[in-house]
Amino acid sequence: MDSVPDGLKKLHLLLLESHETLQKLERGPKLIEGRQKKTAAKAQEISKQKEALIQFRKAADQRNLQLKTNEARITELKGKLNAAASNREYDIIRSQIDADEMANSVLEDEILESLEKVDSAQSRVAELEVAYEAALKDEKTIAATIEAEKPQLEVDAARHLDVIKEAEKVIPGKLGETYKRLVKQHGAGALAPLEQNACGACFATLSRQELVRMNVGDTMICRQCNRIMYKSE
Ligand SMILES: [Zn+2]
Repeated sequence: MDSVPDGLKKLHLLLLESHETLQKLERGPKLIEGRQKKTAAKAQEISKQKEALIQFRKAADQRNLQLKTNEARITELKGKLNAAASNREYDIIRSQIDADEMANSVLEDEILESLEKVDSAQSRVAELEVAYEAALKDEKTIAATIEAEKPQLEVDAARHLDVIKEAEKVIPGKLGETYKRLVKQHGAGALAPLEQNACGACFATLSRQELVRMNVGDTMICRQCNRIMYKSE
């Protein structure tokens, strides 16, 4: 049978171990969820960029159509120019041709600009798709690791419950209720080792009298943080 301080130390380590296991179990799904959100955000970015790409193409197509329409009209007007009946009619047709040619020069610039936008949107989509694939792979790897670890963690968590129950028998009867309350409130922090003559949780220094009591194996509650202290050397 362990001495009370040794038993408390063992219990403290078990509580810490159990806390770590439970935290890992709790953290797993959150980690997966975080990765899933990242992957979904990347997919969202891709569809936004693809939508932009469609709009840039549409703009280029519309201007191209306008350009072709103007070109056809210019050809038609040039035909009429030769058949002009008067100088006045000639001038009117000529100025229409000039206006259409001016409009086409602007359209050509705009088409070029739209095509450049199409190009850069296409490369951005390709980049985003690479990033998405990487995020998806990352997500799957993490999910697989977490799933693989889960059964053992669950076994450990169940085992901890049993061994902790057994180890708790070391708690002196007078501290039974205090321990229950503390463990509910602080988990593994219910217990604190004595470190350099001070409480290992809040660092309050013990009086000489208290140290004497601790040295003879008495169990004490820290005056400052109320945790159950144990001598760990
Ligand atoms: Zn303390």
